[in-house]
Amino acid sequence: MTMMELRSFAAGKWVDAGDSARDIHSAVTGALIGRAGGSLDFAAMLDHGRGTGSPALRAMTFHQRAAALKALALYLSERKDRLYELSLHAGSTRGDAMIDVDGGIGTLFALASKARRTLPDDVVMADGDLEILSRDGSFLGHHIYTPRQGVAVHINAFNFPVWGMLEKLGPTLLGGMSAIVKPATATAYITEACFQMMVESGAFPEGSFQLITGGTGDLLDRLGPSDFVSFTGSADTALMLRSNKNLMTKSVPFIAEQDSLNASVLGPDVTADAPEFDLFVKEIVREMTAKAGQKCTAIRRIIAPQNMVDAVIEAVSAKLAKTTIGDPAVEGVRMGALASASQKKDVLEKAAIIGSEAERVFGTDAPELHGDGVEQGAFVSPMLFHCADPDAAVKVHETEAFGPVSTVMAYRDLDHAVGLMNRGQGSLVASLITHDPQVARTVAVGAAAWHGRLYINDRDSMKSATGHGSPLPLLVHGGPGRAGGGEELGGMRGVKHYMQRTAIQGSPDMIAAIIGQYVPGATKTEATAHPFTKTFDDLSIGESITAGPRTITQEDVEHFAEFTGDNFYAHMNEEAAKASPFFDGRVAHGYLLLAFAAGLFVQPDPGPTLANTGLSGLRFTKPVYFGEAISVSLTVKEKRPTGKDYGEVLWDVAITDSEGEQVAGYTLHTMNALNAT
Ligand code: NDP
Repeated sequence: MTMMELRSFAAGKWVDAGDSARDIHSAVTGALIGRAGGSLDFAAMLDHGRGTGSPALRAMTFHQRAAALKALALYLSERKDRLYELSLHAGSTRGDAMIDVDGGIGTLFALASKARRTLPDDVVMADGDLEILSRDGSFLGHHIYTPRQGVAVHINAFNFPVWGMLEKLGPTLLGGMSAIVKPATATAYITEACFQMMVESGAFPEGSFQLITGGTGDLLDRLGPSDFVSFTGSADTALMLRSNKNLMTKSVPFIAEQDSLNASVLGPDVTADAPEFDLFVKEIVREMTAKAGQKCTAIRRIIAPQNMVDAVIEAVSAKLAKTTIGDPAVEGVRMGALASASQKKDVLEKAAIIGSEAERVFGTDAPELHGDGVEQGAFVSPMLFHCADPDAAVKVHETEAFGPVSTVMAYRDLDHAVGLMNRGQGSLVASLITHDPQVARTVAVGAAAWHGRLYINDRDSMKSATGHGSPLPLLVHGGPGRAGGGEELGGMRGVKHYMQRTAIQGSPDMIAAIIGQYVPGATKTEATAHPFTKTFDDLSIGESITAGPRTITQEDVEHFAEFTGDNFYAHMNEEAAKASPFFDGRVAHGYLLLAFAAGLFVQPDPGPTLANTGLSGLRFTKPVYFGEAISVSLTVKEKRPTGKDYGEVLWDVAITDSEGEQVAGYTLHTMNALNAT
């Protein structure tokens, strides 16, 4: 094959590999297949990101960024075959490549969709609830997120050249920050091909993302307070990079995802003939062999009840024996190579360290390989170890052999199992296979604080469960301690890393103007026409009508009780109502108040208000006795485009009594048609 000369994409231009480029070898044959690393002007790259890319992204609303992300994902998914092809050189089977490529593209789709459904069509994200800071409501507090005004630097690991880039890039771009991506050199040719498609797609403005193939030079020394670093790789490199003096001096945030001794526990309730036993074995074998065990979430420690250890070893070994190893381009090969010769060396060294405390019960030094010319490839056999004394052992709990290597250990009781799980000193994921919810509760209470994700599976969920090793875009990925202390993804949680949270204080009008929503106490504008007759586009925030009064009579309440069947004593039994600490006598139904309020504010004719889709945040704050009169105000609080030909309008509804005091409040949701185009 022709040598791949990898380029970088810096300050809007492609830069060729230079004289000092690093060599890249095929994982399958060991042959030299490419070179990466040119001479880059890091100052210009940062200027370009900070001065061109990030401002362009900040000018886009969350919905515009989400639409661009979706367009990018569509563009990539139409071209992914090229990425599968290249992944063969990294030793990846088609299944392995799909985890990386489809997993990455799917992450973009999921994040784009979640952003459109949950974030405003605005550049400011309001966070949490309004805080009332003064008795009369004239001084309020809130929190907002706005994009950090620098550049995000992403340093990625070799094992996920596509997913690793996209799972960091999606949240960054949604958050309104541009990124400089630095893939690991060993598999950077796959990242570069994907990146080239990203640039061609034109989905994002100039400067939104740049690529470094090769070294990062003095890039970290040039970062400033509004920049950000996200790292995935080894604990040693993370420690070296995060202790960079400039990063510490400028308080540049650094999140890391690094080594992790992930565990899987077999519940004490599971017998050898239970469906959970087969499930446990299947999950272990899949995690050991998918991507040849080069997943940061793979199962490294297998924790089983004492009386089940032999059965687990036997069943896992039997399945591993069926794993055909070799060139992933050859039909029938189930497990490919490690990413490079240096990874193979590293895995064998780490396996030897584990072997000093545990006996190898499956695996060989010279596995049978399928394919031609693979003698120099980075292949290893799956290796299963048994550690007879996990309490005394140290290495098995701290040595991550980043390949198809896992160690079985026994527990006496559930507390012991939890103790062993937590000996990993912080992991990305731990799984528990049990059919007993109380076992799940005990393990979660004892172990959750040490693990980023807990995956529980049994006969009821196994058909639809997503797998121990799969990080999901909507759930957090990261873990405490040894796993790096970072957190990525988690739906919109990951987006917030790339934004600054700021507390804002001010009058209702100030807060309303900043967050783009009506808040109680802010100036309302009297609607000239009934707002239900207006389209989504024509409604303005703060536009309001008031309606009423309507007197509530005893007959109304009794009629309502009979009609609906709601004869609750507070409405129908004077003596019992009086005995309640909340009432001085019979009161109107809350639901009657809501129905009357709708009767007061609704405009009945067909028009642009298409449907009432719900109400939220309902509170009944004061009882209404017979003879009192209620009024209602209806105010446009927030408008949320849906991407369809109608948008969601949120209305602040306040029902007040004859004294002007609020008796009920809620947010009404409607769908309103857009202007005809
Ligand atoms: P490294 O920590 O060596 O590399 C990770 C990334 O950091 C790569 O992009 C690498 O680039 C880059 N890097 C290395 N040195 C520097 C530097 N001085 N300045 C800037 N960037 C740098 O990890 P590997 O990818 O080589 O993997 C080694 C081990 O890490 C694995 O065997 C495994 O144990 C662990 N690992 C853990 C993962 C996890 O999430 N749990 C994921 C991946 C790896 P380059 O390739 O160009 O050197």
